Amino acid sequence: MPLPVPEGYRPLDERTLPAYLAGLPAIAERLGGSPADWRAADVGDGNVNLVFLVHGAAGSVCVKQALPYVRLVGESWPLTLERIWYEYQALIECARYVGRRVPEVYHYDPRLYLLVVECLSPHIILRRGLVDGIRYPRFAEQMADYLARSLFFTSNLAQPAEEKRRRAALFGGNVELCRIMEDMVFTEPYRLHERNRWNSPQMDGLAEEIRRDVPLKLAVSRWKLRYMNSAEALIHGDLHTGSIMVTPQDTRIIDQEFAFYGPMGFDVGAVLANLLISYISQNGHATAAQPREEQQRWLLETVEELWERFRDAFLDLWREHGLGDAYPQPLFADPAAQAALAEERKAYLQRLFDDAMGFCGAKILRRIFGLAHVLDLETIADPDCRAACETACVRLARDLLVHPERYRGIADVTAAAAALRRDQSPAGSDLQRGTAGAA
Ligand code: ADP
Ligand code: MG
Repeated sequence: MPLPVPEGYRPLDERTLPAYLAGLPAIAERLGGSPADWRAADVGDGNVNLVFLVHGAAGSVCVKQALPYVRLVGESWPLTLERIWYEYQALIECARYVGRRVPEVYHYDPRLYLLVVECLSPHIILRRGLVDGIRYPRFAEQMADYLARSLFFTSNLAQPAEEKRRRAALFGGNVELCRIMEDMVFTEPYRLHERNRWNSPQMDGLAEEIRRDVPLKLAVSRWKLRYMNSAEALIHGDLHTGSIMVTPQDTRIIDQEFAFYGPMGFDVGAVLANLLISYISQNGHATAAQPREEQQRWLLETVEELWERFRDAFLDLWREHGLGDAYPQPLFADPAAQAALAEERKAYLQRLFDDAMGFCGAKILRRIFGLAHVLDLETIADPDCRAACETACVRLARDLLVHPERYRGIADVTAAAAALRRDQSPAGSDLQRGTAGAA
């Protein structure tokens, strides 16, 4: 049974949407012309909500409405309507620091649990572009800037203590969406669960192996606790390559409904995890006409560039805008203290790297054994070839989780990924062997 809905709530559709939007003067003006000529299209590739693009004579808008259940699954999986309010709050808070990296908000309707935002065009979903072999030369720089600004400015490094606590408390109510991550990322893939699925029978052996893998279950539970415990910054909370829309020139971040004050490394690790999956999965998309070697080289460079630019941008922001209540300035006025603080900042970033790698491992594994899979792997037609890519992903992810000491810098991660991709062993072989490139 779906949740009972509040009075006045009704889901809109392509037919009812134009009349509704006609009642919002600013939106009507943006669309232009007569409402009778507006065309609403159900985008339909979302998993959770209703999303429509509405086109008028003068412009377009994107309308997102929460349903009292998960769209992909149906009424048997009820989910709170309030999720769209958190998305709205995250968009406006984030926009203060990242400007147009997130879509502009035009309207929020608390009765219909509906959000009207900027229609991104000609942007496409990054994951789709990567599967199709497209390269995005500006992506690493723009994504690093988004991550550094959104995470730094919402943290205690930049905010007054009271403000940070108030904001964190506001997002503290997003419990249902956080619970989904807690279950689907950190728990379900490691036990028998009706929601799990995998590439069967090729991956049956590995699925069983990770259910018996105590060191892996300990490691992933350690990261689960960190996800639950750490309110470092306002994080996107679901920052995979399906939540990023791109052109070769521009990068935009969408789908903020999982936002809350959580560990910074969860966002950084999510992006890197999905780039690494894309990298390894390119083996399954290579053809004689499109060998994908350039794409793979670019993806590995992007993983490195993204982390390095993020780290440097974050440190720059901290040096220039570190006015929050953590590390109070008067305590570090003299040169010796300043030098010590500079070392402290570097250590903070090293700890953030470790977090990102732990979450990266967890984010990779859930895409192979949990409910939600990714196009990068699912569109590989040959199940054996797909399983070889998946096995390489699993090896990398397990090693990141169980042997973090092998990954002190981003080059250790890309070296391990490159070695695994070159040496894609048959599916289901011994996991404990770890990765060829590391150690
Ligand atoms: P869900 O929460 O259901 O996953 P998303 O926010 O991910 O919904 O949106 C679903 C799809 O709608 C995206 O994959 C993208 O194709 C499209 N979309 C979402 N927001 C916009 C936007 N602002 N402009 C253009 N297309 C969008
Ligand atoms: Mg989505």
